[in-house]
Amino acid sequence: KLKFESEIKNNIEGVVPSELLNLLKIVEAVSKKRGERVFLVGGIVRDLILGINNKDIDIVVEGDGIKFALELKDMLGAKKVKTHEKFKTAVVVVQDDLKLDIASSRLEYYEYPTSLPVVEYGNIRDDMYRRDFSINAMALEIDSYNFGKLIDFYGGYEDLAAKKIRVLHNLSFVEDPTRIIRAFRFAARYGFELEKDTEIFLKNAITDGFLKKISWPRVKQELEILFSDKNLTRGMEYLNEYKVFVEINPNIKYDLEMKKNIERLETLEDLLSFVKIKKWLLVFLIILENLKKKELDLVFNKFNFSNKFIEKYDYGILMREKILDQLESADKNSDIYKALNNISMEIIILIHIQNRKKEIKLKIENYIYNLSKIKPLIRGEDLLKNGELPGIEFKEKLRVYFMKQLDIENPTKEKILKM
Ligand code: ATP
Repeated sequence: KLKFESEIKNNIEGVVPSELLNLLKIVEAVSKKRGERVFLVGGIVRDLILGINNKDIDIVVEGDGIKFALELKDMLGAKKVKTHEKFKTAVVVVQDDLKLDIASSRLEYYEYPTSLPVVEYGNIRDDMYRRDFSINAMALEIDSYNFGKLIDFYGGYEDLAAKKIRVLHNLSFVEDPTRIIRAFRFAARYGFELEKDTEIFLKNAITDGFLKKISWPRVKQELEILFSDKNLTRGMEYLNEYKVFVEINPNIKYDLEMKKNIERLETLEDLLSFVKIKKWLLVFLIILENLKKKELDLVFNKFNFSNKFIEKYDYGILMREKILDQLESADKNSDIYKALNNISMEIIILIHIQNRKKEIKLKIENYIYNLSKIKPLIRGEDLLKNGELPGIEFKEKLRVYFMKQLDIENPTKEKILKM
C-alpha cells in the first residue's frame, strides 16, 4: 500500500519518521536563509512512499550545494563536511552513522552514447531528468516555499503504484548501460516488471552490443547490491535471460543446479551472519564455480578484484575437489580441522552449499560452529616450562597436542599431556 501523494503533501509528519523530519526542518531553515530551493531526492523518496526504511539521505539544492552544506554543518553542529569542488557536492557528517549527501541540481547530457556526461548547473527538473527510472526521479521539496510537496515530473508515483520500472527516454540504456543491471536490481527487489517500452529499449541496447561497452567495475557495484538483496533468485533470472552472465564469461551456465545453489544460499542467513561473510561474495563464487583458472582470472580482473583476493579465491575454488576428498575420509575432529584450517570461510561455505551429502554438511558445520573457535590449551609457555627449546619440533609438538585436544572429550591440559 503506497503512501498517497496527498498524504505526503498534507501530512509529511505521517510519512517521514520524526528523526528525519527534525533534520529536514533544519535544512528548511538553511534554505530560507539562503533563498534556495531544496529537495530530498532519489531512492529515499521512492522508499518513503513504499513505506520502506532507507538511510541514504540525498539532498539537491537549486544553487550552490557546497556553500549550503557548510552552513548546514554549522546549523546542525555536525562533526564535519567533506566537499568535492569538482562535482559541486558535499557530505555533511552529523554523526558516524548519520550523513547527508548534498549536491547542486544539475543538467547532464551525453555527447555520444556511453561517454562521460557533460555536467552543467540546471534546475530540479533537469536534475530529475538525468536519472535512471521514473521511480527514482521523484523529489520531496523541503524548503519553505512548498515544504513536503512531492515533485514528480515523470510519473514515478503512478509507476510505483503499477509496479513498473520505466526509463525516462528511449536512449537511457544506450547512454549508460549500467542502467540495464539497475533495472534488474530494482525489478527484483520490489517484485516489479519492466514497463513494455522500457523492456524493448533494454533488449535493443543489448542486441546492439551495449553490454560490451559497460564499465565492469561499476557493474560490480550494482551486482554487489543485487547479490545482497532479498529476492535474489528473480534478479539472477534477469541476468541470465538477458545474457549478462554470458557477457561476464561465456562459460557461466546458470542451470538448475546453480539456481538451487542460490536458493540454498538464501536459507543460510544464520550461518553467514555467524561467520560475518558477505552474501554477494558467495553469489559471485557460486556463479563462477565451473570456470577454469584462466577464465576465473579473466573475470576477477574484469571486475578489478585485488591480486590478494584473486589468489585467495582462485586457490580455494580450484582446491575444492581435494578438500572434499579429505572431508569424506575424515572421521575425527582433527581430520576435519586439517582439511579446512587453511581454507577461507567463503570457500568452506561454498562447499557446504554445493554438496548434497548430509554427512559432509555436518562436518563443515561442526568446523564452523565449534572447531574453528577452539583455542589450544597447551601453549608455547607450557613447553618452555618443561625445559623444551623453541624450534621446528617444538612447533610440531604444539600442533600434535592441539589435534589431540580436538579429538578427546572434555579436554584438559593434564589429559592431553598424558596421552
Ligand atoms: P539503493 O536503495 O539500492 O541504494 P538508490 O536509488 O538509492 O537505491 P543509488 O545507486 O544510491 O540508488 O543512486 C541514488 C540515485 O541516483 C538513484 O535513485 C537515481 O536517481 C540516481 N542514479 C544512480 N545511478 C544512476 C544511473 N546510472 N543513471 C541515472 N541515475 C542514477
